[in-house]
Amino acid sequence: MNELKAGFVGLGAMGWAMAGHLKRVGLLVGVANRSIAKTKDFAQKNGVLGAVDPGELAQHCNVIALCVSADADVLAVTRAIAANAQPGTIVIDHSTVSSKTAIEAQKIIRAAGGDFLDAPVSGGVEGAKNGKLSIMAGGDADALARVRPVLDAYAGRIAHLGGIGAGQNTKAVNQTVIAGIMQGIGEGLALAEALGLDPAVLLPTLSGGAAQSWYLDKRGASAMRNEFNVGFKLSLMHKDLGIARDLAAAAGIHHDVLDKSLADYAQLMAQGHGEEDVSAVLRLKRRR
Ligand code: NAP
Repeated sequence: MNELKAGFVGLGAMGWAMAGHLKRVGLLVGVANRSIAKTKDFAQKNGVLGAVDPGELAQHCNVIALCVSADADVLAVTRAIAANAQPGTIVIDHSTVSSKTAIEAQKIIRAAGGDFLDAPVSGGVEGAKNGKLSIMAGGDADALARVRPVLDAYAGRIAHLGGIGAGQNTKAVNQTVIAGIMQGIGEGLALAEALGLDPAVLLPTLSGGAAQSWYLDKRGASAMRNEFNVGFKLSLMHKDLGIARDLAAAAGIHHDVLDKSLADYAQLMAQGHGEEDVSAVLRLKRRR
């Protein structure tokens, strides 16, 4: 591939910071987003092209990273890019979607002479901001090697898990583990509140021992202060856990943690808390 000319689609909690890292390392040509106000704001602040849509962006870039919401968005953006892309364009998808969607998107881009990598991320908004995301990639190894400088701009770790979809399957496992951790943290912190334990002493004590986890460190104190406005929207987690449950059901394994978490997040969404962080599961654990 000639010189990398990168575009970024999806300027949300994750994408805004990731695109900022691409600008920092000198690779970013332009951005696009569903609501045009964010595109204009980012383009103005960073001195890059603010494209009206992913199709326009594809006319100026040979590698385009996405971090949009769900499966239908990834497919719509991929089709728009494919219709306008130069041959050899590589699309890197950082959204969390199903491996089936990754396979379909790869077919769409390959028909236009390019390639597609599934590359979901873990590390939260903090990882996006400090450029230390863990990237789980699937797809062609040569394509991955070519776009490596793009990923290096915001990754602390890049793993190639296998062919197309292997990154998304790994992410489904990641989200299953987090679902269980959040159930444990929610229940544990509700018990701590009921017992009158002091969060200022409790949390560092737990984090200093075997109960330590990213979520306890980053969201334990805010959850106990009843603040759920930062981080990872639970409606997005609900989407991720649906993907994981479908995989678990097809694999014939038990999925009680996924079922319980899906039911809890559905309840919180029905109560109007869908935009809150996943740590809001604590709400359901408190004394009735
Ligand atoms: P978010 O804050 O809701 O941002 C999503 C962004 O994508 C929004 O700016 C949205 O535009 C844009 N978008 C959605 N559909 C689009 C489309 N069809 N065309 C163009 N732009 C589109 O979500 P996020 O937290 O950044 O998460 C993004 C993805 O990363 C999700 O798949 C999520 O599961 C995954 N993820 C999130 C985290 C986290 O901690 N937040 C961590 C790892 C992975 P609008 O301005 O119009 O809404």
